[in-house]
Amino acid sequence: MIDKEAYPKLTFKDFENIPDINIMQRAAEFDEFLDYLADNGRLNYRLENQTGCAHELEVKGNGHVPDGKYVNFVSNDYLGFTQHPEIKKTAIQAIENYGNGAGASPAIGGHYDYHVLLEERIAAFFGRTDAILYTTGYTANSATIQALLKKEDIAILDMAVHASIYEGCSNTNVKTFLHNNMEHLEDILRKAKDTYRTKMVIIDGVYSQDGDVAKINEILTLVRRYGAYLLIDDAHGVGVHGKTGRGILENPALLAEEDIIITGVFSKTFGGLGGYVVAEPKLIRYLKFQSRQHLFSVTLPPSLTLSAVRGIELLDEEPIWMQRLWENIAYYKQGLIDMGFNVGTTASGVIPVKIGDPALTAKATTVLYQHGIYANCIMYPAVSKKDARIRMSMMATHTKAQLDQALEAFAIMDAQLGISSKSSD
Ligand code: PMP
Repeated sequence: MIDKEAYPKLTFKDFENIPDINIMQRAAEFDEFLDYLADNGRLNYRLENQTGCAHELEVKGNGHVPDGKYVNFVSNDYLGFTQHPEIKKTAIQAIENYGNGAGASPAIGGHYDYHVLLEERIAAFFGRTDAILYTTGYTANSATIQALLKKEDIAILDMAVHASIYEGCSNTNVKTFLHNNMEHLEDILRKAKDTYRTKMVIIDGVYSQDGDVAKINEILTLVRRYGAYLLIDDAHGVGVHGKTGRGILENPALLAEEDIIITGVFSKTFGGLGGYVVAEPKLIRYLKFQSRQHLFSVTLPPSLTLSAVRGIELLDEEPIWMQRLWENIAYYKQGLIDMGFNVGTTASGVIPVKIGDPALTAKATTVLYQHGIYANCIMYPAVSKKDARIRMSMMATHTKAQLDQALEAFAIMDAQLGISSKSSD
């Protein structure tokens, strides 16, 4: 049993292994803890409504956040494609043409022409030939790593990679290196060199909590020096980074390097759902028949598959969205920096305001809510215990008036709580 006095310091993890109580009792304990978090403004799990406009939210009856309209800073719909008329039209038309579901897993009749089309298009998007689809980005990572790396192998992870990558390492050996720290990575690679059959360095292109980017050139040099492979999850980089939105690998001209395995999502920039892996043709074929989550799980539905194809096309047809996104990022980030907030090392569409103390971060987020700004209060286990922050995702469709409203809310919050470096001067 857990003492309620300890609640302010506890995290979800503390409820995983309470000794001597069974799962039903543990669930009951956890339920009380969740009520505590909700009552203290730290759990805003449910939104009632969307306004039909990606950058605004309507909250009704949430109980912990006042009812009303909010500017949405919690969506990874960077380009606003969830609401793009062409994406919606394509999804509706796909349902009319093909129905609502694919009906079977791929090897037994669920692999359709529209899946082949999306595989071809996402591979071609990166200048490659072969891809495999998964129903989520989470599965693309976890299933691929589980299928590729076994007990003779090793996964070498940047410690800040997404949870789905950690989950993928259940069949293999794992070592983590300090975030973007090349000396530490090299040290691990040197020691692993003759010990493991396959060594795979696994990184995110853009890190989802800090919004900073991988040191891709340096990492690739080390990977090759020590005979390892590289897997990059560029979920937050595609559609945002690179001259034409191909992600972190585009500008250093690394897209065509076939030994790099690229994973990604259709759930952010492309405004839908689903995951993909783009890699060397034989590796993709191997995954199609060795990765259990692909083999034994029903494929993406027609609406999401074909709207993802349309999303890929729109990225090229309408470069205005990426342009607006970067204008918004520049304007908003500078506004926060000018007020003295610590935005860390972000270089992407994810902007954190780093506060540190979890309770203070929760209070700061509450002030933002009171002024119509919906942003995420991020704490352990998503980040380390003393590294709580408010995290915002930028969108191409945010208006200047909305960004000004958010900056004004930050100024009010700072006047109340004294969070910026200026207020502590
Ligand atoms: N990779 C990264 C870096 C992510 O942030 C996420 C979560 N949004 C995923 C993978 C999982 O993608 P999805 O939500 O589409 O399953």
